[in-house]
Amino acid sequence: MRPPHSVVGGDIALLTANCGRGRTTTLAEYEFGGGYAALHTALETSPQAVIDEVKASGLVGRGGAAFPTGVKWEGAFKALGQPKYVVCNADEAEPGTFKDRVLMEDDPHRILEGLILSAYAVGASKGYFYIRGEYQTPYRIVQGAVEEARAAGYLGENILGSDFSFDVELRRGAGAYICGEETALFESIEGKRGFPRVKPPFPTTHGLFGKPTAINNVETLANVPLILQMGAAEYRTIGTEKSPGPKLFCLSGDVAWPGLYEVPFGVTFRHVLNDLAGGMRPGQAFKAALFGGAAGAFATESELDTRLTFEDLRTAGLPLGSGVITVFDETRDLREVLLRLTHFFAEESCGKCYPCQIGSQRQFEIMNRITDGGSQPEDRQRLLDLGVTMTDSSLCGLGQTAGMAVMSAIRRWPELFTPVNG
Ligand code: SF4
Repeated sequence: MRPPHSVVGGDIALLTANCGRGRTTTLAEYEFGGGYAALHTALETSPQAVIDEVKASGLVGRGGAAFPTGVKWEGAFKALGQPKYVVCNADEAEPGTFKDRVLMEDDPHRILEGLILSAYAVGASKGYFYIRGEYQTPYRIVQGAVEEARAAGYLGENILGSDFSFDVELRRGAGAYICGEETALFESIEGKRGFPRVKPPFPTTHGLFGKPTAINNVETLANVPLILQMGAAEYRTIGTEKSPGPKLFCLSGDVAWPGLYEVPFGVTFRHVLNDLAGGMRPGQAFKAALFGGAAGAFATESELDTRLTFEDLRTAGLPLGSGVITVFDETRDLREVLLRLTHFFAEESCGKCYPCQIGSQRQFEIMNRITDGGSQPEDRQRLLDLGVTMTDSSLCGLGQTAGMAVMSAIRRWPELFTPVNG
């Protein structure tokens, strides 16, 4: 059970072993717990051996796309062109998500070690740590950790006496949600407006400054030292066959103990909700849970026993996303929730492509009149048409998922979108 003073809990504490104590883990404490041992070992093997171990672990990206990490690294490793780059994507801005912030504030060296290992694997000598602009405290803490690591010989020339040299530069976002999209993030680092690029080509061959780049989310990188320390075979004993490893879930909303929970893939949503987060707030009953953040889908009571794995959630039509679950009790008017979500997308659409730029605005306008009690008979169908159009024809993931929550709600509760006299 989670200690009452902490926001961190769960069934296991592998990624969060040094989290939840209300302070930052120092370099000495991280080393004492086995930190940077994976880097020492990796430098005695080849980059391909590191890639092979990560591939064997089955690790997939934890930022939402779930792309196999080892395959991505191998792509950048084998790509032609120099220099190569690695990037830590810490532009955590999905509503309800705070796992990367906790990891950065409480255990920054775990992420740094993962980033250094990724650089060794792909052959990069320069890396960027791109942190959400609003995250001033994590930025300061990561900056301190980078200086500590440099002083200890984990960054810089000839790391730990090897012929591997690598250093990290920190960058801060300027408040745009879209800069969490990998190619918009590259544009931002390059000093341009954060517009997503058309893919392909993909970052592994044409990434930052047009060079081969491996970009990974904070939680993904935090898994890497663990994998190399315990070995891929042991890592795979955690979780399920198709979803190996530990997973962080951010539970917020109308639960007794909102917080960050680390579990092995495969536990049920009911377990996380009731046993870890203390169930609903006193006197309230469960109504729904939004899986995957603003671009998510709603679960109802019938999905409480769904196992939290990529495969089970896919079957249930629920996105895992970055591991964010927002819970609503029976007193909530979900139309108000959707109004805020659609406002969010209308504000955050970067405007590069019309389906998303215009569609997100129209979606918000329709939700506005629905919540005001002035909806029109065709509005439910209009929302579905907008959702399908944005999904099918938007340039990047933001527009492709901006209608997901609304369409999910229409499927679950069509009556919410019907005019009072309709
Ligand atoms: Fe920008 Fe939206 Fe188009 Fe993405 S889908 S490029 S956020 S306008």
